[in-house]
Amino acid sequence: MITKIQEEFKKRYGDGALLYASPGRVNLIGEHTDYNLGFVLPGAIDKSIYLAIKPNDGTLSRLYSVDYDATVNVDMNGEQPQEQWASYIYGVVQEMKKRGATVPAFDCVFGGDVPLGAGLSSSAALECVTGFAINEVYNLGLNRKDLAIIGQMTEHNYIGVKCGIMDQFASLFGEKGKVIRLDCRSMEYVLEPFNPVGYKVVLIDSMVKHTLASSEYNVRRAQCEVGVSIIGKHAEGIESLRDVSMDMLNTYRAEMDEMVYRRCRYVIEENQRLIDGCQALKDGDYALFGSKMFGSHDGLSKDYEVSCKELDFIATIGRKTDGVLGARMMGGGFGGCVINVVNDATYDSYIDEVKSRYTTEFQVTPRIIDVVIGDGARRLE
Ligand code: ADP
Ligand code: MG
Repeated sequence: MITKIQEEFKKRYGDGALLYASPGRVNLIGEHTDYNLGFVLPGAIDKSIYLAIKPNDGTLSRLYSVDYDATVNVDMNGEQPQEQWASYIYGVVQEMKKRGATVPAFDCVFGGDVPLGAGLSSSAALECVTGFAINEVYNLGLNRKDLAIIGQMTEHNYIGVKCGIMDQFASLFGEKGKVIRLDCRSMEYVLEPFNPVGYKVVLIDSMVKHTLASSEYNVRRAQCEVGVSIIGKHAEGIESLRDVSMDMLNTYRAEMDEMVYRRCRYVIEENQRLIDGCQALKDGDYALFGSKMFGSHDGLSKDYEVSCKELDFIATIGRKTDGVLGARMMGGGFGGCVINVVNDATYDSYIDEVKSRYTTEFQVTPRIIDVVIGDGARRLE
């Protein structure tokens, strides 16, 4: 892919381009905790968007997508382009300009190997590689946190996706052998060790598209807010579920609907699982970490009710297979991938078993995506 991008750039716009990469991400544990101001634990992966860029002397920026084999010439002082892929680049430039930057026209060619729409955040990879590259090429002096916010605001203002900041954070701050414990309340982060020697991280894509995800997402947010407001009547300083302990929740359980109770219980327990899981990683105890992933899946499935039969089917095979340390649905739910941590020796037989049983049950073959935790945004020599 990198060679292809360099060749295409040369052919279209000549020599002298600089080359950049920014990766997709996985989230090991901590789902639906971000908007409850808790913790998430993403890591950058070994799959990226790669972008070659060079300033040009014109007024139009010339963009070429290798994967779509499509060109768009954009006036960055004019209207937003029709093409969504070009809107990500346009949006990043607009967000930079809002922050006082001057961004002269440029030529760029990009492509990647982050599967699109599989929950690995190819969109954040695209925003982050664009922001990182433009920042360096034009010496804008923005830091990685600025670039993460620029990416997030691009999704909000030019794509219409009101996402949190986890994906951009992971794409920019990721490091090989480390996952990022991001505190969604303070925006502070800590790198935790993730060196699963002898294990593989593999995603099993159920191929189910999450059609319910956005409506149910709003329902879950509202249910959590109901829980917070009930507890907030009794205690000072309760602004989110982050401020609520299981003891507090149990004390006021009688005042809330059983469903609200279960939603809140899931979120509080998930934060605890993540904290405990980070300690397990520090201790190199991947079996304990994996058990937290299974716990996360159960909570998402039974208490938070954002799983589906396909995701449960895969996670259940994982749970019953010796050598699968952990498995859980990843992302908002109702479809998408199950993320697994699997013993090297078990990997082949596990994948074969899931593929054949899943295909028999649902008449669809799941997609297998192997990932390794890798480095965040960077220039390539
Ligand atoms: P994801 O979960 O992968 O982030 P999204 O729907 O948020 O899924 O983002 C996918 C969109 O990002 C694509 O429709 C496209 O506009 C853009 N995109 C991602 N990767 C590429 C790529 N390699 N080439 C062109 N556009 C891409
Ligand atoms: Mg996305």
